[in-house]
Formats: sequence, structure tokens, C-alpha cells
Amino acid sequence: MRDVLIAGGGIGGLAAALALGRVGTTSQLIEQAETFTEVGAGIGLGPNAMKRLHDWGLKDVLAQRGFVPSHLEVRNALDGRSLGQMAMGDDFVHRYGAPYLTIHRADLHQTLLEAVQAQNQSSLLLNSSLHTVQPLDEGVQIGFEHSGPMQGMALIGADGISSRVRQQVWGSQPLVPSGHWAYRSVLQRDQLPPVWRGDGMGLWLGPRLHVVHYPIRGGELLNLVVIVEAQDIPAAPGWDHVRSAEEATLDLQAAMYACCPSLQELVRMAGHSRKAWALFDKPPARSAQDMAKGKVALLGDAAHPMLPYLAQGAGMAIEDADSLAQHWQQHSLTVEQRLQAYAQARWQRAGKVQQRARRNGRVFHARGPLAWARNMAMSLGGQNVMDQPWLYKY
Ligand SMILES: Cc1cc2nc3c(=O)[nH]c(=O)nc-3n(C[C@H](O)[C@H](O)[C@H](O)COP(=O)(O)OP(=O)(O)OC[C@H]3O[C@@H](n4cnc5c(N)ncnc54)[C@H](O)[C@@H]3O)c2cc1C
Repeated sequence: MRDVLIAGGGIGGLAAALALGRVGTTSQLIEQAETFTEVGAGIGLGPNAMKRLHDWGLKDVLAQRGFVPSHLEVRNALDGRSLGQMAMGDDFVHRYGAPYLTIHRADLHQTLLEAVQAQNQSSLLLNSSLHTVQPLDEGVQIGFEHSGPMQGMALIGADGISSRVRQQVWGSQPLVPSGHWAYRSVLQRDQLPPVWRGDGMGLWLGPRLHVVHYPIRGGELLNLVVIVEAQDIPAAPGWDHVRSAEEATLDLQAAMYACCPSLQELVRMAGHSRKAWALFDKPPARSAQDMAKGKVALLGDAAHPMLPYLAQGAGMAIEDADSLAQHWQQHSLTVEQRLQAYAQARWQRAGKVQQRARRNGRVFHARGPLAWARNMAMSLGGQNVMDQPWLYKY
């Protein structure tokens, strides 16, 4: 029987395999896709996640493949005025012990995959979709549609927002549609006008929308995310939904008609590379039992899918993986007790991040008096309002 079965080879599953391998635990990672590839665009990793990745020996490779933004500048999307700035770069290293890194999801995924392969503690099985979960006295058995079952001492469900493990063990739990679409694109930085080639992160706030951009891949690319509110949301999350290029252009024109011309121009330039993503989350866990039951535990988006307005979904998966490995080492405890201890350590932290991300969505997209109050608070409070010590110090 294997030590730990991990369902899902995304950022969370690979992070779990790597962290468990570091404490001498072997795993069997099961991924439904035919190859290990990551779709998507850029993500930001706060110092809370970076500290774990540095501990795992990935400091140099991530510094090469990612980008450390010098600062964050928040602007009013309507008139382009600056609302406030926060120093990042070395300031973050001094304050929190690690930088804020922006990176292409594919580059982070590849980095974790290479580290797992080099460690040689995890067997990677592709093209295998977990279908059933069955508790045994001595462990867990998982079933597949097209091959025989597999057994392990424990099962970690790292199979994403629509987790089959969650559905099998906890039953169907509907996701909550936010009514927001994320349009994500990646642009060649050297082909952009100089105004868009700075080393900072930009966050533009407007009524019912916000825009985020930052360099990735050592500064070669600019990641651009435009989040708008719309009524026609599909039934489930996923990449490049039912949004034709024409629909996307119409959505963005309608949402951004009042935005300042330079921001509209940047979004127009990204036209060809745009992909649409409908945003969903789930209410936070009510107790540790929502994250671990018997010999099965959830990790990453499977446990706590969140809106991306605190840029922490992957960060929480990495924190989860680190915590899981720490608790797995407690060999005096039973498997159930170790997983319960992991869930105890994680459910409130992840729930707080889910709630704060939702709140940020409301504040970012505010109109009228609330927008006025937000802008005043940013202008007067500056860095004190934008920084998140409770999140990054962890
Ligand atoms: C617009 C947007 C912006 C974001 N920005 C940020 C950001 O700046 N910072 C940040 O930290 N996070 C960000 N996130 C969130 C982040 O991308 C996710 O939280 C993170 O990728 C979740 O990783 P995961 O491994 O838990 O899940 P996933 O990446 O979904 O991986 C799950 C894996 O499980 C596999 N799988 C699914 N079902 C099965 C099955 N039955 N059997 C076997 N395998 C299966 C899938 O193929 C997949 O490989 C953003 C998300 C969005 C949508």
C-alpha cells in the first residue's frame, strides 16, 4: 500500500507531493490530463507562499522564471489618477522575509514538476481520472473508469474547484457564481508603448470592474487581467468558456466605455490573446471536518475555492501543502488524527482569505459614495491601507 494518494497534478497536488517527499513520505499522484501542462496566464505569489517555496529549494529557479515587481500602483480606472502606491521589491523582503513574485502559471507548475521528479519520492500517473473513493479499515481505495482500483494509507483531494474527491466524500456542494468574468491575456512587453513597460504592478479600480497587470517570465511578458460583471454566467468554471472574440470585445467595450483612453487602449492591444474565465467560489468551511474526514483530506481549490481578488488561491494551496507535510510527520498519531490536525491548522486561515477576497471584489468594483470613500482612504492611508501584514507575515 502506498503512503499517500494525491488526486490532481495542479499547483496544489505537486506542492503536496514535494512537501511530503521532503519529510520522507512517498506518494502516488494521479492526474486526469494526458500531459502535465498548465493553461492560464500569470499569478502573483505573496511572501507567505514564497517563504515555503524558498524552503523547498526553489529560490533561484523562481527568481529566474518569475519577476519581482518594484511596487504596486493603484489608479482610478475612470480618469487614470493615482490613488496610492505601495513599495514591494526589497521592501517586502525586509518586511516579510521573501519577495512578492509574479510568474506565469505554466512556469510555476513546471518548476514544481521538475522538483518533484528530481526528488523521486512520488510516482506520477497521467491520463487517470479518479472516479470513486471508498474508505477501508487500513486506508482508502480509489476507483477509475478505465483501470483497476488503487489503495493508499490516505487520500489528498487536490483536484481543483470541481473536486471529485469532495463530491464523493462530502456530497454535492454547489459552487457560488460571482457574476464576474476574468479576461486574461499575456502580451509581449517589448512590443508595448513605454508607458506599459514599467517594473511595477498596476491595479485600476472602476465601477463594476477592475484591471490588474504585471510583468512575468523575467520581464519578457506582461500579464493582463480584466474583471468585469455580467449576467450570463455558465453553470461551471473552466477555461475559455463560451465567449467568442466578438462577445468578449462587446463585454469589454460595454464595461469599459467610461474608462480612461490609455487603459482602454491597453485592453484593445491584448485582443488576440484573450481568454475568458467565469469566477466561482464556495462558502468557507464551517469546521475542520469540512476539510478532512477519516483518511481523506482536501487541499487547494478543492478545499477552499476563492475569488482571485487577494491573489491567494495558489498561495493557500502551497501553505496547505506545507502544513500537511508538517502534520504528516507526527508518526505517534493515527492517519485520521494527522489529517484532522492539518485541517484544524488550515480551515480558519483559508476561510478568512476566501472572505477577504469576496470583500475586495465589492470594494474594487464600488460605485458612488462607497467608491469615493475607498479612493479617499487609499489617497490618505496609502501603503497602510494596501498592505496585508496578517496575510503576508504567515
Ligand atoms: C483569474 C484568476 C486569477 C488568479 N490569480 C491568482 C494569483 O494571482 N495568485 C494566486 O495565488 N492564485 C491565483 N488564482 C488562483 C489559482 O490559480 C488557483 O487557486 C490554483 O491554481 C489552484 O490550484 P489547485 O492545484 O488547487 O487546483 P487546479 O489548478 O485546478 O488543479 C487541479 C488538478 O486536478 C486535476 N483533476 C481534476 N479532477 C481530477 C480527477 N477526477 N482525477 C484526477 N485529476 C483530476 C486537474 O486536471 C488539475 O490538473 C487565480 C485564479 C483565477 C481564476
